[in-house]
Amino acid sequence: MSDNELIEIAKKACENSYSPYSKFRVGAALLCKDGSVFSGCNIENASFGATNCAERTAFFSAVAQGKRDFLKIAVVGTSDGRFNSVTPPCGICRQVMSEFCGKDFRVILAENDNLISLALDELFPFPFCDF
Ligand SMILES: [Zn+2]
Repeated sequence: MSDNELIEIAKKACENSYSPYSKFRVGAALLCKDGSVFSGCNIENASFGATNCAERTAFFSAVAQGKRDFLKIAVVGTSDGRFNSVTPPCGICRQVMSEFCGKDFRVILAENDNLISLALDELFPFPFCDF
C-alpha cells in the first residue's frame, strides 16, 4: 500500500475523532505486515489524562486483534478540515511504537500534498527499554 493511500485512510479516520475539548481531529492508519490496516482517532475525555491519541487507538486495536508486525503508520490532524501542517506523534505514542516496531518502521506525515516519511529511530532515537 502506498503512503498516499495510507494517508487517505488516516484522513477518513479523523471523521470518527471525539475531540470536543481541543477541536483538533487526529486520524491514524496503521499498516500491518500481512496487509491489513487498522485506523484510529483521538478520543478525548473530560479528565484530560484519560485521552487517547489516534496512533495508540490504532495500535491497540491491532494488537487486540492479534497483530504484532507492522510496516508503517500514517498520521494526520486538522482543526478545520484542511491538512496543511504535520501532526507528529507525541512522546507516549512514540514509546508505544517502539514497543512493537523496529527502527525501520515508518511514520508518514502529511502537509498539504507533501508527504514526509520518517524512520522510527529518527523520531525516537532513545526509547525506554526493558534491560
Ligand atoms: Zn500520542
